[in-house]
Amino acid sequence: MGASHPEQPARLDAIEERLVDSGLDAQISRHKAPKVAREQLLAAHDPRYIELVYEVAPEEGMVWLDGDTAMNPHSLAAAEYAAGAAVTGVDLVMQGEVGQVFCAVRPPGHHAVKRGAMGFCIFSNVAIAAYHAINHWQLERVAIVDFDVHHGNGTEDIVSGDDRILFCSSFQHPFYPGSGADTHVPNIVNMPLSAGTDGAGFRKVMTERCLPRVQQFAPQLILISAGFDAHRDDHLAMLNLVEDDYAWITRELVQLAAQSAERRIVSCLEGGYNLQALASSVEAHLRAMLDQN
Ligand SMILES: [Zn+2]
Repeated sequence: MGASHPEQPARLDAIEERLVDSGLDAQISRHKAPKVAREQLLAAHDPRYIELVYEVAPEEGMVWLDGDTAMNPHSLAAAEYAAGAAVTGVDLVMQGEVGQVFCAVRPPGHHAVKRGAMGFCIFSNVAIAAYHAINHWQLERVAIVDFDVHHGNGTEDIVSGDDRILFCSSFQHPFYPGSGADTHVPNIVNMPLSAGTDGAGFRKVMTERCLPRVQQFAPQLILISAGFDAHRDDHLAMLNLVEDDYAWITRELVQLAAQSAERRIVSCLEGGYNLQALASSVEAHLRAMLDQN
């Protein structure tokens, strides 16, 4: 995204260092991502938009897909691997090779809409994963839970009205991208939170609105848009979550996945821009998946 941009390569380095320093590295298996296949992209994005991304991807310099979303010569490959990771995560849990997957990927995906890039996002990693689960693995019900501080407008745009997918998104409102508070679609559960909301407020809305809907839906797979920018130390936004809150929501989702999805969870990194808070929140998220907190 350019120098001194918060969506920076150091984010993944911070996660990587934390995995090693915390000893988690020895408790997880690692898998390389392939590039996403064109038909997997087509399940979530308009063919003209996909063509555009491949056409304008620069060999040098920067190209802007929207006011917030730039591509450099490596961005297209990164976006292909990020979506490919989400797809591979679905394959791994469906094959029973692993229980839960965390995709440490950039760029994030949840703002990318059917026909365009937005908010640092090029391809909708979780929506692509959801449609792979439906098209390739014949799943009938996939839940996506998005706890990034920003509304998952792109995911909503792609899955809105598709009853095979339940999409739940908690987000600061009013805030970027401004959407979500007035959505009235049966398969979308939007949970706007006012600036300053802390863990108690987050847990309350999740407990009252998201978790019962997910349980009732009985998903065969749970996908997580795991953004950690609602952390109180993340100054891109103004919510006040802490590591324990990320551990809590992860445990709740693991329990729901155990009820109807054979514990299958694929979590994809979205936002999270304070490197320290990002690394410690990812650690809490992974430990909860490993039943360690
Ligand atoms: Zn975000």
